[in-house]
Amino acid sequence: MGTMIVLEGIDGSGKSTQFSLLCDRLAREGAEFMRVSFPAYGEPSSALVRMYLDGQFGSAPDAVNPYAASTFFAVDRFASYKRLWGDFYDRGGTVVTDRYTTSNAIHQGAKLPHGRRAGFFGWLSEFEFNLMGLPAPDLVLYMDIPAELAAERRRGRESATGAVPDIHERDLSYLEECRECGLDAAEYYGWRKVRCCDGGQPRGADDIHTEIWSECGKLILRGGAAV
Ligand code: ADP
Repeated sequence: MGTMIVLEGIDGSGKSTQFSLLCDRLAREGAEFMRVSFPAYGEPSSALVRMYLDGQFGSAPDAVNPYAASTFFAVDRFASYKRLWGDFYDRGGTVVTDRYTTSNAIHQGAKLPHGRRAGFFGWLSEFEFNLMGLPAPDLVLYMDIPAELAAERRRGRESATGAVPDIHERDLSYLEECRECGLDAAEYYGWRKVRCCDGGQPRGADDIHTEIWSECGKLILRGGAAV
């Protein structure tokens, strides 16, 4: 059994930015690891995910209940585990991921009222980790950011890249629920919260990276030697 580190956060929180910084740093330190992103948009295993995000089951996130939608993302993870990184992980390797089961907790749990989320979180762990047999993460770094700031950054990224927003990305009130649900999930699962604002001021990417690195470094680089 290996080590798994997950970067999680709502869309626009800076996950991808921090994922790149973390992977670059691990490579510089000489750590042996695999980097994996979810969903695997280019693979057939993500077909149902793409249909869902494209609005083919309904144009609002609520059109698919959180349990059904979670299974779409879970089978994509299962395929990735089996084909790409499961052997490496099972032999003791370190896997660093951009999103994981944790994204179901945030984006699907957000469809439920606060009082029904704990039941959903319990089901999700049982389903993906115990029944499907996917590994549970050793460390989840949750990028906590106000929804308005995340939405602003996402709009900036969309206008720079020309990317078309999916059914999750189009809906600001859903993003706000995701932010709230992320905090519920962090509490429930014991995720390590990384604050993206300090006293109301956004933190720079390098400052956030320093915090993330200190958490990951402890886990991966034991006694100064890359393992
Ligand atoms: P995510 O993967 O969570 O959707 P990204 O890493 O793509 O988020 O970041 C969204 C946008 O915000 C990008 O344009 C990125 O360059 C910018 N960004 C990320 N982190 C910061 C930061 N700490 N300060 C300012 N802008 C940031």
